[in-house]
Amino acid sequence: MPRLDLVPIFLPGRQEMLDCLSETLKLQLGFEVRQHRPDFDARTSFDTNRGQYNSTTLLRMLLEDLPAETDYVLGVCGVDLFIPVLTYVFGEAQLSGPAAVISIHRLDPLVYGLPADDTLLCSRLVKEAIHELGHCLGLVHCHEPACVMRASTYVEDIDLKPTGFCHECTRLNEADTCRISP
Ligand SMILES: [Zn+2]
Ligand SMILES: [Zn+2]
Repeated sequence: MPRLDLVPIFLPGRQEMLDCLSETLKLQLGFEVRQHRPDFDARTSFDTNRGQYNSTTLLRMLLEDLPAETDYVLGVCGVDLFIPVLTYVFGEAQLSGPAAVISIHRLDPLVYGLPADDTLLCSRLVKEAIHELGHCLGLVHCHEPACVMRASTYVEDIDLKPTGFCHECTRLNEADTCRISP
């Protein structure tokens, strides 16, 4: 069973949500999931001009921090992420590599001036986690509306897609060691 490490980064007060994510990823991806604190100083990924955190820098730090027995690592951030060519990203992953990072910042209804809704936030978090881990498993963006690998520009796009992979993405992943529920 592949091992996935969840690493909370600037994520205070969200242990319950992290535990919920762990359980869902165990069930849906068949991974063994563990959590550990980062051994690096994530503050160095902060860009003072943009007031955001560089997701590529965080990916590199997660990789450098990767325990030998870990197959995949997912950083779960409470802060806003960017890559230089985009205003923001919900997450970033290595294609067919071990590391991915996601942010809950723009998944939170509070950021859009809406009432807090932890059920909705958790549902979005699970979809983004599975999407980025899909990239780690070698999957690229999918045009199928009923597929978690569909690209999301806005948070509403995330709400429209399911947590699962479509038939084709499931088939493409079948050669891999991990089991995916369609
Ligand atoms: Zn993607
Ligand atoms: Zn698909």
